[in-house]
Amino acid sequence: MMMRTMTCRQLGGACDMEFHASTFEAIEDQSKQHGRQMIRKGDKAHLKAMIDMQKRMQAPEVFNAWLEGKRKEFEGLPDSNTNNEPE
Ligand SMILES: [Zn+2]
Repeated sequence: MMMRTMTCRQLGGACDMEFHASTFEAIEDQSKQHGRQMIRKGDKAHLKAMIDMQKRMQAPEVFNAWLEGKRKEFEGLPDSNTNNEPE
């Protein structure tokens, strides 16, 4: 299966944690879960990232444009599920 990699930061978060998924919806979900977990631990950087995200969501057209940009970024990434091939 096709797998792509994006970091927390690339998805509007605050760190370099990597997520791997075959669809944008799945990777977005992983990043949200991770963000919630970090906020529960009291991580200020992720809390700030979430507040920024909520600000974006107040203007749906801005948020949708941002989300579409991220989706295109995701879809333009190479398959990261090929590291077992000898180079
Ligand atoms: Zn993070």
